[in-house]
Amino acid sequence: MLNGLEGKNAVVTGSTSGIGLAIAETLAQQGSNVMLNGLGDAAKIEQTRQNLARSTNRKIGYSAANMREPRQVSAMIDAAREAFGSVDILINNAGIQHVAPVDEFPEDKWDAILAINLSAAFHAVKAALPTMKEKGWGRIVNIASAHGLIGSPFKSAYVAAKHGIVGFTKVTALETAEAGITSNAICPGYVRTPLVEKQIDDQAKAHGISREKVIRDIMLKSQPTKRFVEAAEVASATAFLCSNQAASITGIALPIEGGWTAQ
Ligand code: NAD
Repeated sequence: MLNGLEGKNAVVTGSTSGIGLAIAETLAQQGSNVMLNGLGDAAKIEQTRQNLARSTNRKIGYSAANMREPRQVSAMIDAAREAFGSVDILINNAGIQHVAPVDEFPEDKWDAILAINLSAAFHAVKAALPTMKEKGWGRIVNIASAHGLIGSPFKSAYVAAKHGIVGFTKVTALETAEAGITSNAICPGYVRTPLVEKQIDDQAKAHGISREKVIRDIMLKSQPTKRFVEAAEVASATAFLCSNQAASITGIALPIEGGWTAQ
């Protein structure tokens, strides 16, 4: 059983879908109030918010802040503080991807990926740190990627942002080490999110091969376990890093990628 999560207040960016939603669910199940954030259909998001509040009996809020806009990022932290009284746990998870060779990479995609996958975490951490320091307790988990540790062709902006967030995680950890705050990154391999599910269908159609073959020979080529990481596995590790049991773990980049980066 994890301890230290009961009654804590969390913000999880990009939690209307995929990994972020799994993290929000797990933190709420462990007793934390959660501010959801992300894009999507407003009615669907409200349904998700209500369901999570009902099933966990926690306060669940929602911020529509666009992680591309620094002022909206800090306003989201302020809103969570106002709604819950504090922000004790910050999970920087929102992210986007674009795949193209460097010499054809669209500038606007580069800027958006760096803004959402990297700079938003800086703005959120900057806004959240002062009251974490005051309380003498805080947990920051940045959802990086195996691409925070190694590169792959055609993902220049994503790999740059994810390497960047691993570095930012370490510096935050060093600066807060004596303040009861930890800062860690998680580096997932391919995770089965709705986004990836769609890619399987698209690739199967494009190549005229089965879904199984797409998964094994294309997507999981570099993932030795030959299976996707589950969003729930990333969520469990995140909750552990937020617990009191993980108080001495700070500044790490934890791979959850089925052995990908062991090669
Ligand atoms: P997803 O597309 O299912 O979810 C992304 C979330 O970010 C959504 O809630 C979306 O609304 C939100 N988002 C996107 N742009 C935003 C913006 N401008 N402002 C606010 N919210 C925004 O993706 P996912 O697979 O769950 O990815 C979550 C994180 O995990 C990302 O940082 C991604 O890089 C990382 N990751 C994913 C995988 C994978 O295989 N799925 C692997 C490694 C790392």
